[in-house]
Parts: sequence; structure tokens; C-alpha cells
Amino acid sequence: MSELAPPAALLVDGELRGASGGATFPIVNPATEEVIGSAPDASAGDTDAAIAAARRAFDTSSWAEDVEFRVHCLRQLHQALVDAGPAMRALTTAEAGAPAMFTAGPQYDVPVETLAWTTELAAGYEWEHDLGLASPMGIATARTVRREPIGVVAAITPWNFPNQINLAKIGPALAAGNTVVLKPAPDTPWVAAELGRLATEYTDLPAGVLNIVTAQSHEAGAVLSSDPRVDMVSFTGSTATGRTIMAAAASTLKKTFLELGGKSASIVLDDADLGGAVGLTAFSVCVHAGQGCALTTRLVVPRASYDEAVEIAAATMAGLRPGDPRDPGTVCGPLINATQRDRVEGYLRLAREEGGSFAVGGGRPDGAVHARGFWIEPTVVVGLDNKARTAREEIFGPVLVVIAHDGEDDAVRIANDSPYGLSGSVSSSDEARAMHVARRIRTGTLSVNGGVWFSGDAPFGGYKQSGIGREMGVAGFEEYLETKVIARGA
Ligand code: NAD
Repeated sequence: MSELAPPAALLVDGELRGASGGATFPIVNPATEEVIGSAPDASAGDTDAAIAAARRAFDTSSWAEDVEFRVHCLRQLHQALVDAGPAMRALTTAEAGAPAMFTAGPQYDVPVETLAWTTELAAGYEWEHDLGLASPMGIATARTVRREPIGVVAAITPWNFPNQINLAKIGPALAAGNTVVLKPAPDTPWVAAELGRLATEYTDLPAGVLNIVTAQSHEAGAVLSSDPRVDMVSFTGSTATGRTIMAAAASTLKKTFLELGGKSASIVLDDADLGGAVGLTAFSVCVHAGQGCALTTRLVVPRASYDEAVEIAAATMAGLRPGDPRDPGTVCGPLINATQRDRVEGYLRLAREEGGSFAVGGGRPDGAVHARGFWIEPTVVVGLDNKARTAREEIFGPVLVVIAHDGEDDAVRIANDSPYGLSGSVSSSDEARAMHVARRIRTGTLSVNGGVWFSGDAPFGGYKQSGIGREMGVAGFEEYLETKVIARGA
């Protein structure tokens, strides 16, 4: 067993401990298939105890009212996460297969800074404001609008950007005065458990305010979605699971906040710098082996430039050979597990059945480093239109589908012809034209000419089947607040 971090533990009611029955499950490095540790496999009783602790902490402590104390605890947590940076970055690379390069960005450092941003937002937030005097139905009344926490929040998270998503949920939820039960994905329990350990050892967070249950099956998530003691479920993951969670939450009408899948389009207009726009899109699809919900996996290019665009994309992706995620130069690491690799290979078979072919890639790489681990070559699929399932469904691998458009209106039609609406990009040498197109795309974020929308103060989320609600930014903080009006006879 390696010594990447102290052994993973549950955090329940302020106590770091194993599962009540003593069960554990293995943590596997996806680049090597090596078992690098084990995590407690929470029993139904452990999940129940975590919910009970969160409920008690919310109902009987001053946490919900004491903004100053919350800010103090979250500043401590931020500092602990900064201090633990080198160890947490190495753990993230080992457990999630996240290339080291990105742990200095969205895989660790950016989410840690976002926690600081959210904490300072809470410190200066206007929790009450005066709505002024009015005379509804002739009765003179002074009104105050007040924002309050929702209660117990269940945060259910995926494996692909584990620190980013864990922190983008627990940061605003706690800053807003809620208590939390975090249930990370079975593939990435360790970084979540480390978060719990740091919170316990280096902050004054009261017992029960933050609870973390790691589990191998999805049962704990199902329990959290339906338990009447939980007031809100904040979920990031697949659209299919989002549907199940929303249905489970309906029985108690709890608030559901969903960040789901995507199949975003990169639109290249006929006046764009083709090499720059196509190269950037092809590069981004290889980041973390394409395991990002907001990646632009449909490249929509002018029909006249199709062959040239394919050539550029293929050359770019051929140069991004999957490699050891610890190597500082690696962009494309492994897929998370064998199931995910099977799923991607299934889509590569489907692409061929649908009449597509590969300009590059299409299988597993065959270098010495690839003898173990879950690898797929960066792949460019050509010859399909936007009706193909390969062009419509989320693959979650380093797979780019190139689609031809017949002008600006057609490009917008193709981009919007998707069940998803998470992100996208537009490239043009005329910024006003690109902005006009960007306004017509039905997605939650858009990049114009390489602009970066990912930032702690910018809300992120999806239209259509990509989700409900926004994470990060002021909007992401306010997702965790109720609104109350107090009317006083004047
Ligand atoms: P997943 O839906 O399989 O699992 C996500 C989490 O939900 C895990 O913690 C899992 O244990 C839990 N879960 C599974 N079934 C459940 C159930 N029935 N009830 C309650 N909880 C349940 O997703 P994944 O494979 O871990 O992650 C990949 C997916 O996440 C992709 O579709 C990707 O697009 C999406 N994603 C979306 C965003 C976003 O912000 N929109 C960000 C990252 C990933």
C-alpha cells in the first residue's frame, strides 16, 4: 500500500472513523490498475448517522445564524487546503488519473481559490434588505427580505473533477449556513476523505456540520436523495442519474440542484483563424482524456474547410499521445476505469456502424506505459452529421466529432440541435459577429475566440438536459439560500 495520504476515513458527527461493519473497498490508480489504498464502505447505518448529525447540527447549533464563525471556519479550511496542496495534487493524480498539469488549475488550485472567493462573498453578503413601505390591501406595512440557509444539503459528486466539484458544493452550502453530507463517487473517495480529515484537524467546524460518507455502491446516494431529513440535493454527474435523483427527491419535494452531461459545439465561422480555432478545440478534447462535461466534443466547421479542419484536428490529437499523468507534460491521461473504457470503445464501434471513420485514433494506444491502465487514443471521427448518435450522446472520452455547416444559421441550428445545453465556443475574426452567434446558442457558458468562462465568480451550469441551477459565482451561492419576507404593520 502506498503512503499518498493517511488512510481514508468517514467523517460522521465530527468523528473520523471506519465503516460501522468494518467494510472497505479498494482505490485503484487508473493509470496503472494498482490498488493504492482503500476506503470505508459506509453501511446504511453510517449514512443514517451522517444525516442525523447534519440535521442535529442545523437544528440545534448556532451555525445557521453565525456568519462570522462560518467565515472563520472556512478561512481555516481554505488555508489547510492551500498547505496540503502538494499532497492533494499528487493524490488527485494517483486516484483520478488527472494529469499533474491540471492540478495547478481546475483540478485543485482553482477550486481552492474559489472556496476563498465564496467565503469572502459570505463575509460581505447582504443577508437582509429593506423592501420599503407599502400598503398592500390598504394595510401600511414595512417589509424586510431575508436570505436564510435551506437546511441539510446532500452533495453527491462524480469522479472526473473531484476536488472542483466537492468544493464548489460544500463551499457555498456551508458559507450559506447549511449543514452537509458529502457522498463522493466510488472511484475518488480519497480526496474527499482527505478534505474531511483536514476539516477535522485544522478547523473549528462543529461536529455534524460537515459529514462525508464514502461508499462503493450508489445506495448511499439513493438514500440521501429520498430521506425526509435532507432539504436539498446538490448533484453533479450523468443525466441518467440526475433523472433518478430528481424522481427520488420528488417524494419529499426537496430542492434538487443538478449539473449534468453535455455535448457542446465548437463553432468555427468562415472568417475564423481555422488553425487556431481547430487546434484549440482538438487540444481541449484531450484534456483529462475527454472526461469533462463542458468540453466541446462537436467541432462544427464550414463545409468548404472540412478536410483542412480534419487534418489540423488529427495532427493536433496525434501529438497528444496519452501518457503518465504524473508527467508534467501530459495532457491526456487514462480513463477512470474499465467500464468507462468499454463505454468509449462501444461509441467507437457505433461511430463505424453509423458510417463514420477515424482520421486519427480509434483504439487503445500500444506503448509500454499502456500495458496496464485504462487508455484510449485521442480520436477524430469524420463523415457523420449531427443526426448520428455519436454526435448526439455524451462519450466522455478523447473523441471529437467533426461536422460540416453551411453558414452561420446552419451552425447555430446544429449547435442547438442537442438534448444538452452546457457549453460551447464560437470563433470568428469579427468579434461582433461571434457575439451575435454566441447569444443564439442555448447553453450555460460560451467561449468566444478562446475566452475562458471557468472562474470562481462566474456561474456555471446547463440549459435543457444539462441541468437545473448554477454552480459558483453569486448565483451558485444563492442556490443554497431560502428567501423569506417579514412584513411588519407600520
Ligand atoms: P454518475 O451519475 O454515475 O455518478 C455521479 C454520482 O452519483 C456518484 O457519486 C454516484 O455514486 C452517484 N449515484 C449514482 N447512482 C445514483 C443514484 N441512483 N442515486 C443517487 N446517487 C447516485 O456520474 P459519473 O460517471 O460519476 O460522472 C460522469 C458524468 O458526470 C458525466 O455524464 C458528466 O458529464 C457528468 N458531469 C457533469 C458536470 C457538470 O457540472 N455538468 C461536471 C462533471 C461531470
